[in-house]
Amino acid sequence: MDEHDEAFRDRIATVNEKGKRVWIFAKKPSGSYYNKRQIVAYILLGLLFAGPHLRIHSEPLLMLNIIERKFVIFGQIFWPQDLYIFAVLLILGVVFVILFTIIYGRLFCGWVCPQTIFMEMVFRRIEYWIEGDAAAQRLLDNSPWTTEKIIKKTSKHVIFWLLSFLIANTFLAYIIGSDELWRIQTDPLGQHLGGFIAIVIFTYVFYGVFAFLREQVCTTICPYGRLQGVLLDENSMVVAYDHKRGEQRAKIKKGEDRVAANKGACIDCFQCVHVCPTGIDIRNGTQLECINCTACIDACDHMMEAVGQEKGLVRFVSEKGIQTRLPFQWTRRVKAYTLLLFGLFITLVILISTRKDFQTTLIRQRGSTYQMDEHGHISNIYEVNLLNKTQKSFKISFKLSDLNGEIQTVKSNLILQPETELKERLIIRFPISYIKGGTKKIRVLIYGNGKLIQRVKTKFFGPTL
Ligand code: SF4
Ligand code: SF4
Repeated sequence: MDEHDEAFRDRIATVNEKGKRVWIFAKKPSGSYYNKRQIVAYILLGLLFAGPHLRIHSEPLLMLNIIERKFVIFGQIFWPQDLYIFAVLLILGVVFVILFTIIYGRLFCGWVCPQTIFMEMVFRRIEYWIEGDAAAQRLLDNSPWTTEKIIKKTSKHVIFWLLSFLIANTFLAYIIGSDELWRIQTDPLGQHLGGFIAIVIFTYVFYGVFAFLREQVCTTICPYGRLQGVLLDENSMVVAYDHKRGEQRAKIKKGEDRVAANKGACIDCFQCVHVCPTGIDIRNGTQLECINCTACIDACDHMMEAVGQEKGLVRFVSEKGIQTRLPFQWTRRVKAYTLLLFGLFITLVILISTRKDFQTTLIRQRGSTYQMDEHGHISNIYEVNLLNKTQKSFKISFKLSDLNGEIQTVKSNLILQPETELKERLIIRFPISYIKGGTKKIRVLIYGNGKLIQRVKTKFFGPTL
């Protein structure tokens, strides 16, 4: 490549030589990959919007309430005490993303990421519907402000804003839950001013992202894209141009024999560039702006079919695959990450399946010492804290495993409400003859609705005999 060919490295495709934003008018894609993407996108959108309203055992499918520190995943409530499960889940997610990227490149960005799905399958499609395809959009943008332009632009932005409002509400429902969101929407404004302000802020953030910021989120803001350079290797499957087959690129001439003319398969039609939502030319090789949306594959396949050449000049392939024509290779790095992922997944399953519905802390009341009564009984006072992670309420009672002692609560009729904590003081008594050496290990049994729900060990203190 000469100096001119390398010019694409000087700046990103959406910035001109003066440092100004170049607006991308992406041509409407069509083809088998685009059809499949639409199916995936609309299934995911359905799940995303339904998510906060679907219930499992009256709990939402997913809720990440950071404010109240309540997290629900698949109807299971996770408390701050279950943070270790979240830590494993987080590590699992990171390893999965790394492994997935090593094998399949940025396929996630183009096919699963909500930013791309909303941008390409919702907002841009509305734009095509109102303003027409790329050429018509460019023409409209450059034309003076006529009635037609005002109507088109206003209706587009009103729909964009309304959609952003819908997304903001859904986003908030994942944080505070759909019931609380419903209260914000239906109660008098003054009762939920904070919630209302949050909806307005989120709406304008989403509107700004999808109406103006667009591909800049993927090319300059999202950190995942920046990781590509370290995660991808020559075996990673990416959307790539088969330069071995495509070069020397040249415009097509009627009736010419391209092989005899020493020309490659690429007819230099720029269709792959015109459909690209990030404005890059995939023929320059793998670039961090490429979100693997596969639109250029469809565009190129279409051109190859039109000129009677084999499809797949731009395809999903590794660099090694282009060089050697071999399929994906299981490298040592991929095997190691797969093993790690598998190990983490097993750990997570064990942690979730052994996670307890109750959590108890039992400590001696701070600053207290043992008491001795006139009948020769020693008593200790404890503070018990019982957390109920279930949606049922329980009548709580305490017993000692050692029948020589007795246990008493300060309050009678202890009810542990669903998803709450219960704090109580316990008085434990033992005859002095049972306390040898000043301490005794004891076990407190906790019953909920008459069934043993927890066993807690602690120490009982008395005089050194
Ligand atoms: S180069 Fe192709 S796959 Fe990459 S973003 Fe552009 S159109 Fe999508
Ligand atoms: S669409 Fe295919 S043939 Fe046309 S310029 Fe791109 S790679 Fe070359």
